[in-house]
Amino acid sequence: MKKLFNDSFENWIFDLDNTIYDIKAGLFVKISERITQYIMEVLSFTKEEANLVRSDMYKKYGLTLTGLMREYEIDPDEYLDFIHDVTHPELQYEEQLKLCLNNLSGRKFIYTNASQDHAKKILSAMGIEAEFEKILDIKATHYVPKPDPKSYDIMLKIFGILSNKVESSIFIEDTAKNLKPAKLLGLKTVWMENERNLEDYKNHAEYVDYKYSDLKSFLNDISYSN
Ligand SMILES: [Mg+2]
Repeated sequence: MKKLFNDSFENWIFDLDNTIYDIKAGLFVKISERITQYIMEVLSFTKEEANLVRSDMYKKYGLTLTGLMREYEIDPDEYLDFIHDVTHPELQYEEQLKLCLNNLSGRKFIYTNASQDHAKKILSAMGIEAEFEKILDIKATHYVPKPDPKSYDIMLKIFGILSNKVESSIFIEDTAKNLKPAKLLGLKTVWMENERNLEDYKNHAEYVDYKYSDLKSFLNDISYSN
């Protein structure tokens, strides 16, 4: 069977949550509950109010944290520690995934709106931390989140991707609106299909080059040169 991709990309950029691990693992549900809990505890809202604030901030700023910083002056480090304070027993060592990633001849990066500590915890639980050259987290983008185009400029700079290399770079994400600025810059884009962000996908389908049910099926569609 003909594979869709050659192993020809020089830069492979992966989102973390619900992309590196399957959304069906349920891990993000726990983080999501912690976000609501944080707003309830720190800003003294009821659960209902907290959920409203949350969706309002997300819609307005693209990331709940950014909205809470701008409008409620919360401490971002305290927030990130709080929301990521969950255990990950559902994650396991992913030998096959590690091999697939290791086979890619290009450079590999993590680009996340979450924190570096959270990313490291996830990647090490899955045994794939060493596969990535750099992790770019929300602190490193000065709390400018995806899908703000400024965040992508910082990303390209920190990963050292020059403008003539943008077209040989590919970005893999479960939130389609985050693929839009990447696509506009000239990167190839891959959406990890999921129900949660289906509406968002429908609104941004034109910025999606490929879609896959999960990371493994995407990586299985690559024919390796080595
Ligand atoms: Mg994600």
